[in-house]
Amino acid sequence: MGAGTVIVGTGQGGFQTAASLRSEGYEEPITLIGEEPHIPYQRPPLSKGFPLGQLDFESIQLRPERFYQDHRIDLLAGKRVAAIERATQHVRLESSARIPYEKLVLAVGARNRKLAVTGANLDGMLYLRSLDEAIAVKERLKSAQEIVVIGGGFIGLEIAAVACTLGKSVTVLEALPRLMSRVVAPIISDFFRELHASRGVKVVCDASVSEISGSRGKVQKVALRDGTVYPADLVIVGVGVAPNVELARDSGLGVANGVAVNEFLETDGENIFAIGDCAEHPCIFAGARVRLESVQNAADQAQRVATTIAGRRSCYRALPWFWTDQFEIKLQMAGISQGHDRIVTRGEVEKHKLSVFYFKRDRLVAIDSINRPLDHMIGRKLIAGGAPLTPEQAADESLDLRILEHELAQQKGGPARH
Ligand SMILES: Cc1cc2nc3c(=O)[nH]c(=O)nc-3n(C[C@H](O)[C@H](O)[C@H](O)COP(=O)(O)OP(=O)(O)OC[C@H]3O[C@@H](n4cnc5c(N)ncnc54)[C@H](O)[C@@H]3O)c2cc1C
Repeated sequence: MGAGTVIVGTGQGGFQTAASLRSEGYEEPITLIGEEPHIPYQRPPLSKGFPLGQLDFESIQLRPERFYQDHRIDLLAGKRVAAIERATQHVRLESSARIPYEKLVLAVGARNRKLAVTGANLDGMLYLRSLDEAIAVKERLKSAQEIVVIGGGFIGLEIAAVACTLGKSVTVLEALPRLMSRVVAPIISDFFRELHASRGVKVVCDASVSEISGSRGKVQKVALRDGTVYPADLVIVGVGVAPNVELARDSGLGVANGVAVNEFLETDGENIFAIGDCAEHPCIFAGARVRLESVQNAADQAQRVATTIAGRRSCYRALPWFWTDQFEIKLQMAGISQGHDRIVTRGEVEKHKLSVFYFKRDRLVAIDSINRPLDHMIGRKLIAGGAPLTPEQAADESLDLRILEHELAQQKGGPARH
């Protein structure tokens, strides 16, 4: 037996790499190392069912504990990798222990960006990325009454919906003119703004936070640059993440907006791969190098790297997709909408069933669907398969998209399935 594969990071990507290596028939040792003291778990419920009390830790674990023994995966939880010693192919833990590798997979994810204003360290200022942070949010939500959420992106809006559902007074402060604006079209932003407002969430856009103040070390107020002040006994900050690139950079690997990898998810260091939230890869659907933050991206990249390590080197070409749940509404996104020059809609916003089709030079590049799961599932196939859907067809509700899906499947020689 050789040194096998060492995976750093026990998130979605790290876990999936280990699991997929075994299902690919890889027989060498697998060591899965993570700084969090827990067995691998899913992050999406942390801003949805977990703080609502609908899901506990056991139900969000990616696999039960015995899975790791059964699959001969040496899980080292609560251990931080401090350095990569590339010359001898070892990783060094903070404890100074050294672990050899033949292949190394960096699945180290991203960490929350911190709010850089006065008062940001007061008690009652919370972030949400890890299970421990989610436990703290859940606990504080029990007694807090006035919640201010800073950041109107996915995580901020999801936790705002949770807090509102728990009967709290909630204000969302978003610095940009509209919600989730980095990713969705204005019609979707407006829909979610109205949804939150209809449930009693106060949504403030163009809101630039200038200061957090408190008393006896506890948060009490959030002030904006325009002088408006919002009372708060709990502030949850969701202003984006930064990729964990330090391990890679300190060992001399190429880093851009993430650990730089090629289409095989290989870094420029021999036998070292990077995947998931920490990695920047060339994406054929974006026509650019991108770093994506989604379960799909982490899980599919992990699967691809496992195939390569198991001996069948293969390119990463999966279509990006994502979802968010806010109140009872599910928004599903497929493809990359950046750079689109036209949108058309299908469905009715009033009925809370709507899809937005994004076109770039008449080519379908992305679909966002609100409570229209079939559009999403078919859309994924149409975008990935490069189906010739015109904007007029997309807008024509009488055209059954399943026909196009069927034609696409026939061209590719197989039946359409969902
Ligand atoms: C609250 C929340 C809700 C989300 N909701 C959705 C959703 O609805 N849909 C969706 O598609 N995506 C969602 N995401 C995003 C999704 O969870 C991430 O994109 C995905 O988890 C990325 O997986 P990863 O393995 O790349 O990184 P991570 O899951 O971040 O895992 C990286 C792990 O590496 C560890 N690590 C870092 N450095 C070291 C080191 N030096 N040594 C050891 N360990 C280290 C970290 O502590 C972490 O445990 C959500 C994320 C959050 C936080």
